[in-house]
Formats: sequence, C-alpha cells, structure tokens
Amino acid sequence: MKHVLVTGGAGYIGSHACKILARAGFVPVTYDNLSTGWAEAVKFGPFEQGEMADRANLDRVFMQYQPVAVMHFAALSQVAESMRAPGIYWHNNVVGSLNLIEAAVAHGCLDFVFSSTCATYGDHDGVLLDEDTPQLPINAYGASKRAIEDMLVNFQASHGLNSVIFRYFNVAGADPEAEVGEFHQPETHLIPLVLDVIDGKRPALTINGTDYDTPDGTCIRDYVHVMDLVDAHLAGLEWLQARRGSRVFNLGTGRGFSVREVIDHSRGVTNREVPVETGPRRPGDCTKLVSGGSRAEAELGWTPRRSTLETMISDAWRWHQNGHYER
Ligand code: UDP
Repeated sequence: MKHVLVTGGAGYIGSHACKILARAGFVPVTYDNLSTGWAEAVKFGPFEQGEMADRANLDRVFMQYQPVAVMHFAALSQVAESMRAPGIYWHNNVVGSLNLIEAAVAHGCLDFVFSSTCATYGDHDGVLLDEDTPQLPINAYGASKRAIEDMLVNFQASHGLNSVIFRYFNVAGADPEAEVGEFHQPETHLIPLVLDVIDGKRPALTINGTDYDTPDGTCIRDYVHVMDLVDAHLAGLEWLQARRGSRVFNLGTGRGFSVREVIDHSRGVTNREVPVETGPRRPGDCTKLVSGGSRAEAELGWTPRRSTLETMISDAWRWHQNGHYER
C-alpha cells in the first residue's frame, strides 16, 4: 500500500484530498494538530495528531508509514489574522514547513505537493495573474507562503526534493456526497458566511469594503471547487512520479466574481434572502485576484468540472444543511 502523508488532513481542503487519495488507491495518513481541523473529518486513513514543530514525532511518522509523497496543507490561512499577528504565520507556516521539509529529506521522501496561494501575488492593477507574475504579497499570509515556495526551490536544487507548488485561488464548495465539507470556527470565509446568513444563523453579511476599483466596488476573486482542486493534486502526484524538479501551477478558473455577485448567486441558488450591511475594507485584502494561467490544463491535463459558482454554492449549501463537525 502506498502511503501519502497529508498534513492538515483534518482541515477543509486536506480532508477532501484524503477522500480522493483513498479513491485513487493511496492510504492518506493525516498529520494534524486539530488547531483548526476536526478529528471527525479524518475518515479515509490513519490519523496522527501532532505539531509540525515536533520533529521527533514527524520522524516517527515518516519511519512508521514510509510515505511515497507529502501533501502539505497544514497552515494558518486567514488574511486578516495574518495582519494582526504576523509572528504566528512565520512560526507556524514558515518554521513549521521548514521542519517538515527537512524531515521529508532526511527520510528520503522526495516528492512534495505544496498548497500555496494567489495571495503571494499581491495587487497588480486588475491584470490576470499567471505563474510568472511577480510575487509581491501585501499580507503576512501571502508572504509566509512565498517564503515556503522559495524554500522548496532551494531544497530541490540542493537535496533533490521534487515539488509541485499549487497557488490556489479561492477554494469553495464541498464534497457532493457531503462526507466532508468546509467548517471553520470562527468562520471568516465569504460563501459559508453567506450560507449562515441564509440559514438564519447570522443576522446579515457584512461586505468588507465597497470602494474598491471594481465595477461594483467590491473585491473580485476567482472561485474554484474543492473537488476540482484536489483532482489537480492527484495529477500533481503523477507529475512528480514522472519527473524531477519544482514546478508552480495556478489553480483557478480564470473567471472572477465580486462579493456582491457571490451574494446574488447565493440568493439564486437557495431562493432565499441575504440581508447585507456594508463595512470597512478588511486590512490586507487585494482588489482582484483572478488566474490568467492555464499551465495546469496544459501540463497536468487538469480540467475544472464543478467550478461554476452555482455548483460550488449548491454543494456548499447541501453540506451546510446536512453536515458539520463537533469538538
Ligand atoms: N468578505 C466579505 N465579508 C465577509 C467575508 C469575506 O466581504 O464576511 C470578502 C473578503 O473581504 C474578500 C472576499 O470576500 O474580499 C473573499 O474573502 P474570503 O475570506 O472568503 O477569502 P480570501 O480571499 O481572503 O482568501
């Protein structure tokens, strides 16, 4: 049995990755400290609770399972939090990843898939972002992820650690079978918050800024379905099995939607009202983040299949109504 070490496997994207890895015949070994993840979300393989800072525990896990690859999802990922407390982003994301990368090299596990982000690009006057767009992050979250990308390039050159670096745009939706889904506490992401409002769990959705330089004044993002995203990770594993090197791929659809458009589509999908309020800009938010790259399609044969806004919202809505986790 081929094991894949999945850090953050108890989280939103990591749990979907475990599902698809198991379906593809791998055994996903979740390594997660449950700081934001959920033990209940670990359904498709063994669970090892631990910190990325705990090198002895990582060594034990590498020795016990002899994974053929690492998929590294574990991270803090909230823009606003990273602006308030950058130190925890540098400790957890950067130092933690360095520890993991050094452990992988020490144990000869030389195929590494990394979750990076479009937040590494920063603001570029509304142009579409391809993999060669300069990385000029405007928040500590993006800066921490860019640093890890640099680390992976260095470790490829010096230690032969091969990597596929995925720069995610805005991940949304849920497993259509609702076995796993998105559930953060506290929730900060747009679509689950809109669904909370629709469900009566919150009184209104606050739009973070209406004076951006966009057609309706609200921020624009490129939303990609979590199942499409994790499909790309399987293609990334195949890339690593066939090649050496380090390669970056954007994972987005190339279509952008404003905050107001997401709210309108959510009304349409659920046929329910969404009371909104307007608030100030959220520090660290880029105006527009939309992928202009099709490298993943060209080189990995990746085709997003569920990434229409309607499908993402309706899959998230199904999960929202039927599933959640408890500590
Ligand atoms: N947003 C908003 N109200 C909210 C939550 C999010 O207006 O209650 C906006 C946020 O400022 C950003 C967009 O929705 O412009 C997407 O935010 P999210 O946190 O979902 O993802 P991010 O782009 O930060 O990764």
